[in-house]
Amino acid sequence: MSSVKLKKGRDKSFNRKHPWIFSGAIDSIKDINTNGETVEIFSGDGKFLGYGSYSLHSQISVRVLSFNPEDQIDKDFIQKKIETAAQFRTQIINLETTNAYRVINAESDSLPGLVVDKYGDFLVCQFLSAGAEFWKKETIEILLNIFNPTGIFERSDVEVREKEGLQQFKGILYGKDPEELIEIIENGNKFFVDINLGHKTGFYLDQRDNRKLLETFSSESEILNCFSYTGGFSVYAIKAGASKVVNLDSSLEALSLAETNLTLNGIASSKYENVQDDVFKYLRKLRDTNKQFDVIILDPPKFAESVSQIEKASRGYKDINLLALKLLKKNGVLFTFSCSGHIVPELFNKIIADAATDAGREVHILKYLTQSPDHAMLTSFPEGLYLKGLVCKVN
Ligand code: SAH
Repeated sequence: MSSVKLKKGRDKSFNRKHPWIFSGAIDSIKDINTNGETVEIFSGDGKFLGYGSYSLHSQISVRVLSFNPEDQIDKDFIQKKIETAAQFRTQIINLETTNAYRVINAESDSLPGLVVDKYGDFLVCQFLSAGAEFWKKETIEILLNIFNPTGIFERSDVEVREKEGLQQFKGILYGKDPEELIEIIENGNKFFVDINLGHKTGFYLDQRDNRKLLETFSSESEILNCFSYTGGFSVYAIKAGASKVVNLDSSLEALSLAETNLTLNGIASSKYENVQDDVFKYLRKLRDTNKQFDVIILDPPKFAESVSQIEKASRGYKDINLLALKLLKKNGVLFTFSCSGHIVPELFNKIIADAATDAGREVHILKYLTQSPDHAMLTSFPEGLYLKGLVCKVN
């Protein structure tokens, strides 16, 4: 069997069960022919450690499949991992009120590079690493067996594929092509999801619990939902009694689907307003009026794609948070997020603290938020934590 041998002393991260082996840690490779194929992993002194998928192109040469040399890596192995991940979701998701959730969260479910989201009877997959691509056929067969979906759609139209020597791809893998929007239910709220053209696999499933929490602060509130996308936070807020919500997003398509989603939930158009603008600019326009809000949500896209962007991203986060803090009424509430994995929680907290100082507002942190539990992170894979949020009370 093909194999990799690590350099001497470079097995520490493996021993801590971190699933990535970088090219710099590898001493030699043997008999590797195919991108993504399964390799045996040996330590620098020749000890057989486990198995991984080898990527011929990525800096992350090996993604560990098993830390146990006694395992056998075959379709059954993949099936057990998928079953375990699927079973875990039935424990943490209330399937009576929610039918859209992440079934497989890649490394965090010990299936490196594989993302599977369930939207009602449809599954949407991303094969993000050479190893995930290598096991694609088997993975689809297993998913069909477990879920019997109406359709399986692939959204591997992401740049990371190219680092793995794979082409971007989007299209139907099985069953019915979802020509129209898919209707899902989340905590009893209805949403249309565009799995073909929407962000990620269509919907920000990772914000589910945070949207639910917003209900607590919504009653009779005037809310500014910045980066509103398809209206996730807005639907929850208005159904929980908000008097008015402003959806603010630069994308007309997103705002239009937000409107559709609000209507789908029986919400009258008098309850909300759509503003198409750049958040950085629009918050400045509001600053120059006397307009104030009870609640502001800031859920921007990823500002830091790499370590080199941390500083610029931090300035961006500080800017919008500073502006938002100034626009809150006394005892107002800020829901603020960062989904950049490179912005660690301590840094995000500091950015908000600095914004509070500069805004001249006293800010209490009411809650620390993170991604919903179907996106749970493994302690041995800290990279799996990316979404951070704070609920702040602002005086
Ligand atoms: N809160 C949403 C997800 C937000 S995704 C939810 O729960 O579903 C980020 C959104 O920000 C996208 O809709 C994108 O169109 C929008 N966006 C990105 N940059 C922007 C900018 N500078 N100004 C306004 N909107 C922006």
